[in-house]
Amino acid sequence: MKKIGAHVSAGGGVENAPLNATRIGAKAFALFTKNQRQWKAKPLSDENIRMFRENCAAAGYGPTDILPHDSYLINLGHPEKEGLAKSRAAFLDECQRCEQLGLAYLNFHPGSHLKKVSVDECLKRIAESINITLNKTGSVTAVIENTAGQGSNVGYRFEHLAAIIDQVEDKNRVGVCLDTCHTFTAGYDLKTEQGYRATFAAFDNIVGFRYLRGMHLNDSKKEYASRVDRHASLGQGTLGMDTFGFLMKDPRLEDIPLILETPDDTLWAQEIGMLYGMTGETA
Ligand SMILES: [Zn+2]
Ligand SMILES: [Zn+2]
Repeated sequence: MKKIGAHVSAGGGVENAPLNATRIGAKAFALFTKNQRQWKAKPLSDENIRMFRENCAAAGYGPTDILPHDSYLINLGHPEKEGLAKSRAAFLDECQRCEQLGLAYLNFHPGSHLKKVSVDECLKRIAESINITLNKTGSVTAVIENTAGQGSNVGYRFEHLAAIIDQVEDKNRVGVCLDTCHTFTAGYDLKTEQGYRATFAAFDNIVGFRYLRGMHLNDSKKEYASRVDRHASLGQGTLGMDTFGFLMKDPRLEDIPLILETPDDTLWAQEIGMLYGMTGETA
């Protein structure tokens, strides 16, 4: 079964996220467990935690149906000592919040070299950051998202993801999330059936489907290989609906969260319905 959902609001408390997901017919969802644009957040209260767990259980969302996303400020490959330490502390805090909520994953953007260290050095720092965090936590899996390769962001080549995983000690607690917009603008074709097949064959060969924990389903405002990250609503970008048809018929994507991060949240219910229409399953 396909588990399609969206990155929903946790405004007013994390416990609202599963309610917001249910309202749009989602079978999976993503959320920020804290404000994604701030370093500090107040701890989750016992009440937040209890209600989040209750609301998830009532709506039938299990831990692997939920793909929390970390703050955009965190750079686990930061070239400078202070920035790296700050990022690692914030990432640990986010992992601990996930564990408090009973969540299995934390999805994050690998990091940026800020033109101060090489790509390889940046990847090494990211792997080190993951190792440090996994050693200080009990169960959460670090889910690396591929990027569009904008600015000095690493993670836009499948080889980058593989290099990080290779240097992570506990392979059971590291995974990958592929974003369709990022994949396409990073220079992997998903638009034609042949391109789709070749891209996923390369992914399987270089990283491996066994590491795939989720996907972000976004159309793209920018062109193929532009290395720019601008999401579009499904069918309204340079990818077009065919891509989402290939995805919905792909049996390798069963039972993992497939998350919309499309810009118009008023379309999410419709987009989810349309995607389920293409799977032949009912929403
Ligand atoms: Zn992301
Ligand atoms: Zn994006």
